[in-house]
Amino acid sequence: MQTTTTIPIHRTNESRLPGLDINNLPFGTAPTDHLFIARYTGGEWTEARIEPFQELTLSPFTLCLHYGQTVFEGMKAFRMNDDKVSIFRLNKHHGRFNRSLQRMAMPEVPYELFKEGMRQLVALDRQWLPSGKDSALYIRPFVIATEKRLKVKISDEYLFLIVCTPVGSYYSQPLRVKVETEFIRAADGGVGYAKCGGNYGSALLPTQRAIEAGFDQVLWTDAQNREFIEESGTMNVLFLIDDILITPARSSTILDGVTRDSILQLARRRGLKVQERKISIRELEAALQGDIRVEAFGAGTAAVVAPIESITIGKETYACYVEEDAVMYSFKKELQGIRTGEVEDTWGWNEVV
Ligand SMILES: *Cc1c(COP(=O)(O)O)cnc(C)c1O
Repeated sequence: MQTTTTIPIHRTNESRLPGLDINNLPFGTAPTDHLFIARYTGGEWTEARIEPFQELTLSPFTLCLHYGQTVFEGMKAFRMNDDKVSIFRLNKHHGRFNRSLQRMAMPEVPYELFKEGMRQLVALDRQWLPSGKDSALYIRPFVIATEKRLKVKISDEYLFLIVCTPVGSYYSQPLRVKVETEFIRAADGGVGYAKCGGNYGSALLPTQRAIEAGFDQVLWTDAQNREFIEESGTMNVLFLIDDILITPARSSTILDGVTRDSILQLARRRGLKVQERKISIRELEAALQGDIRVEAFGAGTAAVVAPIESITIGKETYACYVEEDAVMYSFKKELQGIRTGEVEDTWGWNEVV
């Protein structure tokens, strides 16, 4: 394997893998044996290396603890049928990582550093990839502001880390969602399109309220009029209405999801009609009231496709189509096929490690 960046590797001499059932772990609980870390100081990324997984020591003055300069990505590596390991759409995730970093006035991470750090880490910890169908290695690259200063300012120092955790078979129970018209997730001109920490902290309370009211998740609406559908929880949302695949167009408030993009490409290749545009609550409700089939689903790296079984608008609850022959499941299946090598990877989405 050719590498253009030399990354020193300090291996652990005691793997935590023996004795762990990596096919049956609660999501995000078990770090793999190693992590990648690089430091940004004096205007450049330095000291890139792979180390045994370890805790961070941070001063209470560390900027990211106070003012939210943190950005992350969520990606997956898959075991292919020929036992190779591939990382899904590394390129596209890297592009988004840098757009998020830019918005938070943080230094971009060069492609080589991102790619080589991740490839070598995943290669080193490849035994942590579960064997079960539908399982994967979840990869979390992130950057935090580490200058020690109790003042609101752009940090002069950062850490870039990559950590990984095995994720077992993911079966997602169809979701009951409510259209959220009190709280909002993102406003035009804000940071909704960025994967920065604050977006998730601010969504916790509305989500907790929805769960207390008997829902699994909220369907966010726009900040201005609470009129148009935005996203579903921390996933993009797609609707199949009368054989047309409709999803909110990308904007400053919508996260540019890699899963969303992948599904749209698959749909267009199949000849399905795809519309990226605003969809109002009123339009959605009219479709749900009619006798056409409506499928609704969330799309994101963790669940891939999360079927929505009901949508509550005000006091009315409407059922969506979630039977086995629903089209949304076929997207998940085709994506899985590409990732394992069963379906030809025509777009070069697999970055084989
Ligand atoms: C990460 C994320 C998504 C999904 O993006 P993927 O690249 O498909 O994982 C959608 N919405 C929000 C708010 C997200 O954070």
